[in-house]
Amino acid sequence: MAKIDFISLSLALVLGTAGNVSVRVGDLVAVSPSSVAYDAITPADVAVVDLDGHRVDGPHAPSSETPMHLGVYTTTGATAVVHHHGLHSAAVSTVLDELPALHYYVLQLGGPVRVAAYATYGTPELARSVHAALEGRTAALMQNHGAVAYGDTLDQAYDRARLLEWLCTLHVTATGLGTPRALTGEELAAVARRRTEVPA
Ligand code: 13P
Ligand code: ZN
Repeated sequence: MAKIDFISLSLALVLGTAGNVSVRVGDLVAVSPSSVAYDAITPADVAVVDLDGHRVDGPHAPSSETPMHLGVYTTTGATAVVHHHGLHSAAVSTVLDELPALHYYVLQLGGPVRVAAYATYGTPELARSVHAALEGRTAALMQNHGAVAYGDTLDQAYDRARLLEWLCTLHVTATGLGTPRALTGEELAAVARRRTEVPA
């Protein structure tokens, strides 16, 4: 997790032990241990759970958000999940129900990003709310909490989580300057078509 630590800290994605990451391999999921500082986590600290959430390896309790991670695995084709409390993601999650498409990069996440309704951290309710917000998307904001993204690899999930934080930073910056214009559905569709012709 060295790359995640270094880049996450420089982008302020990580505050203390907040956030968690996991990777699925077959019917098992390796998940970051709960409440252990990232720069102190070694490979031996990583928890391994089955798809029902039972710990099968590792000295620490798995992340409290394991139900949310497992929910993503059982409802999508995800291989990796990243959850963070990035400042701008958390800020935007308190004021919007959906992050408008200020930039065509939203297409990399499936479109305008929804905000999952608030529920207490680590609960099945939060897992359900995130599941609903992820429909047709590879990332979601979590109301009054943070963000979650998934991918085929840990790098892809992490890049998407970082992209979402960037999009939220764009939103915060633009709304500080005035009322931002969102891209229309037609403009987004034109970008989607363009990407099939000329990859960006
Ligand atoms: P864990 O330390 O248990 O992973 O919890 C952090 C968190 O982000 C809870 O939402
Ligand atoms: Zn969290």
